[in-house]
Amino acid sequence: MTEARSRQIVIAGAGIAGLTAALAFAERGFPVTLFEQARQLEAAGAGLQLSPNATRILRRLGVLDRLLPNAIRPQAVVLKDARSLRELARVPLGEAAEKRWGAPYLVAHRADLQAALMAAVVERPDIALVTGARVAGIAVDPQSVTATVEIDGKATNVAGGLLVAADGVWSSVRTQLARTTGFAASRFSGELAWRATIAAESAAGQAFAQIAATDSVTTFLHPGFHMVAYPVSKGSAFNLAAFTKGERIAEGWSGHADPAILSGAIRGTAAVLSRLVALAGPWTAFPIHTVEQRRWTMAEGIALIGDAAHAMTPFAAQGAAMGIEDAAMLANLVFPDDPKQGLTTWENLRRPRVERVLKRGALNRLAWHAWGPAAIARNLVLATRPPEKLAADLDWLYGWEEREVVRR
Ligand SMILES: Cc1cc2nc3c(=O)[nH]c(=O)nc-3n(C[C@H](O)[C@H](O)[C@H](O)COP(=O)(O)OP(=O)(O)OC[C@H]3O[C@@H](n4cnc5c(N)ncnc54)[C@H](O)[C@@H]3O)c2cc1C
Repeated sequence: MTEARSRQIVIAGAGIAGLTAALAFAERGFPVTLFEQARQLEAAGAGLQLSPNATRILRRLGVLDRLLPNAIRPQAVVLKDARSLRELARVPLGEAAEKRWGAPYLVAHRADLQAALMAAVVERPDIALVTGARVAGIAVDPQSVTATVEIDGKATNVAGGLLVAADGVWSSVRTQLARTTGFAASRFSGELAWRATIAAESAAGQAFAQIAATDSVTTFLHPGFHMVAYPVSKGSAFNLAAFTKGERIAEGWSGHADPAILSGAIRGTAAVLSRLVALAGPWTAFPIHTVEQRRWTMAEGIALIGDAAHAMTPFAAQGAAMGIEDAAMLANLVFPDDPKQGLTTWENLRRPRVERVLKRGALNRLAWHAWGPAAIARNLVLATRPPEKLAADLDWLYGWEEREVVRR
């Protein structure tokens, strides 16, 4: 393989992780080709909370300034009991977050983040973005990795030194590798995420304003159910994401599930919250799939990042942030003359971090959906934790930097 080819980075998927990887590799001087199956990057997905561990990387890659005009800095994360609407806990954000963790805590539409990443990508001549291009097959040999890419019904082979699979929770690269190697399959978690966006001026928006501060992230807790709400679109709308148990439905961002599941799950919540949920429809449902922790790399030159590697439940609001961290750290760790070197180091450094975040998500789910004595115990524990202490509990997560990485 020629030297130029061996430094070529091929990325499957232009989601949050893939676009970040393209920028991070280009910044290190690697030529990048990024294949995205969609013809156009659509405004898919929900709102996102972007914590300082992610925005710090976006700032370094020149993306943050492009995102800020469409993002909001919430003033706090507030937990409320969905029945009594009593405040259970508060983590100060806004300036306090920026001061504490060195980068802003933001909320934005996933589409706005994708657009900000895209705007940075298209300015780089060293990144070739090809849309309407599906990575359909992978072949590896000791020297290189070859992706078979389908464009307009025609298959083309593209060789590179490293293939980065950033093709999401239903990754076709991972599925193909799973047949012969130790890569994991995705699995339905048994949970559904319900999403709605409401205009601030609408009846639903007014109901929301009665029960929550409109400049904060509010999570309403109830046995077997929680709902996260925060402002988007410069405060003219609110993003609502509710979580319930549910049956498996078709894969994708804009699915349909029986609304009776949601109305059943909110039984017993405060009347105004129930009214908000009724007014906010129609809700779209997203089946939450996870990917078990197995391997993420092959020494021949394949690395899985983001949801393709370790899709997680959204209970720690860290899926996209982990994809951003994966991408930035991978680009920093590979060898400049041979990008398939350094993959094991990257995987060994990333695994404990991702596992800790997964544990945090599982703990949040347990605490937020608790009922009876467990919910009482939770409320008592939260009552003893002042906002400053709750913020300090998150230092390991939001204060994370790639400081342990020595650039090669
Ligand atoms: C309700 C909900 C709320 C969430 N909230 C948060 C939050 O607050 N904060 C947070 O950090 N995370 C959150 N997440 C998680 C976050 O949305 C995901 O972790 C993140 O979008 C994953 O990014 P990705 O780039 O890995 O995958 P994706 O965004 O799925 O991107 C994959 C891309 O690959 C493309 N693709 C797929 N297959 C191929 C192929 N064969 N060839 C070429 N292209 C292909 C797809 O078209 C897509 O563009 C939330 C998730 C949900 C469901």
